[in-house]
Amino acid sequence: MIYFTGKNMETKTQFFTTPIYYVNARPHLGHAYTTIAADVATRFKQMDDHDTYFLTGTDEHGDKIVQAAQKQHQSPREYVNKITRLFQDLWPRLSVQNNQFIRTTDPAHIQVVENLLTRIHDKGDIYFSSYEGQYCFGCERFYQDRELVEGKCPDHGVAPATIKESNYFFKMGQYQDWLIDHIKTHPGFIHPRQYETELLSFLKEPLEDLCISRPKSRLTWGITLPFDSDYVTYVWFDALVNYISALGYPDGALFKKFWPTARHFVAKDIIKPHGIYWPIMLKAAGIDIYAGLNVHGFWNVSGSKMSKSVGNVTDPVAVTDRYGVDAFRYFLMREMVFGLDANFTEDVLVSRINADLANDLGNLFSRVLSMHLRYFKGIVPAMTTAPDISLASDARAAIDGFQKAMTRYEFHKATATVWQFISSMNKYVDMHEPWKLAKATEKRPLLAAVICNLLEGLRTVACLIYPVMPGTSEKMLTALGMTIPEKGFFLLDQILSWGQVQPGTRLAKPPILFPRIDVPAKDGSKKKTAPADRKKDAGVTPETKPVITMEDFAKMDLRTGTIDAAEKIAGSDKLLKLQVDLGTDTRQVVAGIGRQYNPKDLVGRQVVVVANLQQATLMGEESQGMVLAAGTKKELVLAGFDTRVPPGSPVK
Ligand SMILES: [Zn+2]
Repeated sequence: MIYFTGKNMETKTQFFTTPIYYVNARPHLGHAYTTIAADVATRFKQMDDHDTYFLTGTDEHGDKIVQAAQKQHQSPREYVNKITRLFQDLWPRLSVQNNQFIRTTDPAHIQVVENLLTRIHDKGDIYFSSYEGQYCFGCERFYQDRELVEGKCPDHGVAPATIKESNYFFKMGQYQDWLIDHIKTHPGFIHPRQYETELLSFLKEPLEDLCISRPKSRLTWGITLPFDSDYVTYVWFDALVNYISALGYPDGALFKKFWPTARHFVAKDIIKPHGIYWPIMLKAAGIDIYAGLNVHGFWNVSGSKMSKSVGNVTDPVAVTDRYGVDAFRYFLMREMVFGLDANFTEDVLVSRINADLANDLGNLFSRVLSMHLRYFKGIVPAMTTAPDISLASDARAAIDGFQKAMTRYEFHKATATVWQFISSMNKYVDMHEPWKLAKATEKRPLLAAVICNLLEGLRTVACLIYPVMPGTSEKMLTALGMTIPEKGFFLLDQILSWGQVQPGTRLAKPPILFPRIDVPAKDGSKKKTAPADRKKDAGVTPETKPVITMEDFAKMDLRTGTIDAAEKIAGSDKLLKLQVDLGTDTRQVVAGIGRQYNPKDLVGRQVVVVANLQQATLMGEESQGMVLAAGTKKELVLAGFDTRVPPGSPVK
């Protein structure tokens, strides 16, 4: 018999990168998010049996660095060493497991930059020319007139200086059609979809040639051009090249093994260099194009775009010290829809920690293990066959949903899927009421089955949260008496099999996973946030909320709207997709009223819309606002008016 070992023996590989971070400032929330997202993706691929390589690093050349160093009376090298150290120290504190940390001042990197420049120059795609233009020193770039706002740099608000100099340029135009075609024929190359659209729309305009040098008279802190020692290369031909120099291009074993699966994580502000310059540079040099680009949105801190000048840069170290690294990682992954902008406020962070982590997960964990300790003296009973009460099929759905979402880099959806399972486990406890079963001897086997199912469910959750919360995963698995594989996690294929918590194992008193965080009240006293009430759906006692000022209320943009169209969202019996006419514009709003209202009965109906609610995505549908309704989950009634009013009327 002949075995064709080649194909089946092949290991699946995955290479992920973050941008190399510019060391003109300390690490902030944005750096933390990109790097944690890439770390979560890497850990997931490992669970999915891939051999992974994860690269991050720092970008250390350029005039901003020289300026920052001068301000601190340091040499550029002393300065970059200091700031780079901050990044290198940060990643382990955020449980980031990068395989390599590259610096653009590394000699090996410099060699590859020279190699690439020589190749492209020899080919004739780099030429020398004089250029006069509007230059912003803050941005380190020339501006086209049309890019300026009232003659000023849009980022710095100062008029650029007119500079004339000779420089080297990279001809990109002849690769434009090839790139358009590559993007169109490789779905997922630019991810998520809206950024593919954005790039293709950039590419409708003819590409201008890219200036890739600076004369040494103006800048010396850079890599000297191999074909002209009076110049250094500038920004992209230095920075972007890190992705291949780190792997030992051209002959390194890492390059051969990992480059074909390269996927870059970036924030949306650097989509153009990564989505246009970089693939064209690779093409011009005769190197295979990377496999994909994952683009995420911005974090707004307390409502405004994060920037150093407004002093709201969130320090990831401070947040982690205060709330714990796993809680921070969970929040970042759960709160941001990958690709869209999200808000970071301490209030939202705390309420997620209290609701999702302390309450839903933490309480379930300690509740189940405490019952186990009470009813079985901490010794795992044999699983009694009672398939009709098994949680295994819910667990399978959670694993499937998690895997699907993670494969598409939908971290928010992946975590939401796990929390859906946690919520069914909480319902399972309420439904089977183990404390009642414990009172009757003949119910003993049933009690054992319920507890065993819950232990298995917790084991499943512990395995699935590994990429996002590796520390908590380990704590839970240890408390469940599981032997964690040496690599630190279970493969996806190993998770489902039911009955892995071994009968006879002794389980100790559970640790507290996430202590509830006290929220200081406005008067300075501490109060605990109200625990989520799971039982009283049917009650009419409304939850009381703190008093707000007229000013708080005035922040809400409430308007009347007329429903133009309504339809069910596939896969949900609760959600309807509404097109609502607000007078000035028509909004798509997703509303959870599908069980109470028939879509066709809603057309023409007037509703109250919260028009300035942050945009959200529900079941893949964008929702630009919310319609108001009263009642409980079962009986929801839309708010309305007894006389028709024009759409768009303010509600006061
Ligand atoms: Zn500027």
